[in-house]
Amino acid sequence: MSDSGSTGSPSVAREMQKQKRSMILTLVLFIIQLSVLLSYQWWLNPPRFRPDAPLIIMFGILSGAIIYVAGMASSAHMGPLFKPRFCPACSRQIPFDAALCPYCGRRFP
Ligand SMILES: [Zn+2]
Repeated sequence: MSDSGSTGSPSVAREMQKQKRSMILTLVLFIIQLSVLLSYQWWLNPPRFRPDAPLIIMFGILSGAIIYVAGMASSAHMGPLFKPRFCPACSRQIPFDAALCPYCGRRFP
C-alpha cells in the first residue's frame, strides 16, 4: 500500500547522514563510559577509583569531544571554513580570504 516509487532520492542521503550522526554520538558516549570503567579498580575489595581517575576520565571526554567534532564536520556537506564566497557586487566566486574582489575591485569590510 505504499505509493512512494522514487528511488535514490536526496532523502536517502539525509537519512544516512542522520544515522551516521547517531552512530558518532553512540561512539562518543561509549568512549566516555569506557574511560570511567577503566578508572575504576574493580578487582579491589571494595572497588574504588584509581588515584589518577580524573585524568583518565578527562582524557576520555576530550577524545570523545574530538571524535564528535571531527565526525560532525565530516558528516556535514562542507566545512563552514571552506564555504565558497561570492562577491555581492558581481556575484562571482572569490577567494575565501579576499579583502577585495579580483573581478570588480569591490572592497569588503
Ligand atoms: Zn566583484
